[in-house]
Amino acid sequence: TSLDHGLEASEALGVLGRVFGYASFREGQQEIIEHVVAGDDALVLMPTGGGKSLCYQIPALVRPGTGVVVSPLIALMQDQVHALTALGVRAGFLNSTQDPDERRQVETAFLAGELDLLYLAPERLRTEAALRLLERGTISLFAIDEAHCVAQWGHDFRPDYLALSMLHERWPDVPRIALTATATPATHAEITERLDLHKARHFVASFDRPNIQYRIVPKSEPKRQLLQFLRAEHPGDAGIVYCLSRASVEKTAEFLVANGIDALPYHAGLDAATRAANQARFLREDGLVMVATIAFGMGIDKPDVRFVAHLDLPKSVEGYYQETGRAGRDGLPSTAWLTYGLQDVVQQRKLIDTSEGDDAHRRRLAQHLDAMLALCETIECRRVRLLEYFGQQGAPCGNCDTCLTPPEAWDGTIAAQKLLSAVVRLARERRQKFGAGQIIDILLGRMTPKVVQHGHDTLTVFGVGADLDEAEWRAVVRQLLAQGLLAVEGDYGTLVLTEASAEVLGRRREVPMRRDPQRPARATTVAAG
Ligand code: ADP
Ligand code: ZN
Repeated sequence: TSLDHGLEASEALGVLGRVFGYASFREGQQEIIEHVVAGDDALVLMPTGGGKSLCYQIPALVRPGTGVVVSPLIALMQDQVHALTALGVRAGFLNSTQDPDERRQVETAFLAGELDLLYLAPERLRTEAALRLLERGTISLFAIDEAHCVAQWGHDFRPDYLALSMLHERWPDVPRIALTATATPATHAEITERLDLHKARHFVASFDRPNIQYRIVPKSEPKRQLLQFLRAEHPGDAGIVYCLSRASVEKTAEFLVANGIDALPYHAGLDAATRAANQARFLREDGLVMVATIAFGMGIDKPDVRFVAHLDLPKSVEGYYQETGRAGRDGLPSTAWLTYGLQDVVQQRKLIDTSEGDDAHRRRLAQHLDAMLALCETIECRRVRLLEYFGQQGAPCGNCDTCLTPPEAWDGTIAAQKLLSAVVRLARERRQKFGAGQIIDILLGRMTPKVVQHGHDTLTVFGVGADLDEAEWRAVVRQLLAQGLLAVEGDYGTLVLTEASAEVLGRRREVPMRRDPQRPARATTVAAG
């Protein structure tokens, strides 16, 4: 009844203070909690750090019975249970790392109604034994954390998550709350469909992180650029530097240390003890810089990460958003800094071309990369583009590089025509394909050994691009790639036309471009790492 509901709602605020020690709810939490406490289904899309856990933990404490939480990461599950136990909440988990005794203890407590929260790995729920156990106890709610794992691409836990649709059929009266920090319209729709949450109320929080300043700069000498950025803007601050490969993690960490910055490496190739030690130091000590592959960061709850730097292009906007989202959870000003260049695109394409899975999978990966490129090359506010990607609206923010130093727009149509016709001529007249380096040498009219060897100085396009310099041509190539007017393929990153290229060559389409803002020259002393 509504009277009960009202009582329970005020109880929620009591639990927030008494158990968790917080004075007030964050945006969205109270509504979500009241909805679930009342026994209704919910789908919660909220950015990392938004406070999703309380949205199921408090209802589990308020409602009679045990809240069953499905969570894919065993380490996270254990952390959560320890944290809850320390607060006096009766929580336990069941997963493959336990011995039979530990497991039995948890099961007994659950059956005796002595658990407020029970965490389970999703694969558990595919065993009859686990389902029968759950049937013998009293369940207050199901929480499905990291619900985007049901979505189509690249999720290790997908089959286990798809099986979760049966919860609804088996326990029709138990409310379900699914939560995720991934909120593209496509993922949202897929979660709704796969978990049959059509009738659930959907709570979509704003994905804006106003305290994070977004900056994306052209890559020239990435390590040196990083060092300048750290020295100028974040001396002594804690932060994360993401690199694509283990080798570059090692090299970058050494380079930073050689230049007086407290940096630690983290990647899956390090032994477990080193990884754990480095992670513990990063969490505990002040002002450490973690240089890591994306293996690092899931579930890291360090509030004062002041910057997240990417030395390589993330594979998707989702990835970029998740990774940069680890900065500034305390709400204080923080920086998301990314350096990216043409070579990143070549490398990512190669990874996609050689990735496992079918063509449809590769096409999806390519779409994700294209969206990331578009974000990099936009002349609009980065935040507006980012929010747009998640289906949300924003206004120019004044706190990203394109707002702070608006890039000059220029008409790149003629440059695009020149470059595309160089690609066409090589293909048609010579049956050859080349990477950006050679094409740019041809446009600039450089008599390099490779130009001479192939007789490229006799092409009509030889030297027609001398009005731009090499960096500008590279920017042109990047932007053509980002606009889908050019594609890159193969091991050597050869450039090829796309269907849309014809529109430019046929003068039916204009090509607006951005000019990279001049980099401020700063004197920095650099030690080799
Ligand atoms: P998410 O799962 O959405 O990434 P968490 O649930 O881990 O976020 O919460 C992020 C941090 O914010 C945690 O340290 C949590 O204790 C804190 N937090 C959550 N809700 C509140 C609140 N109402 N008041 C203060 N701190 C909160
Ligand atoms: Zn902006």
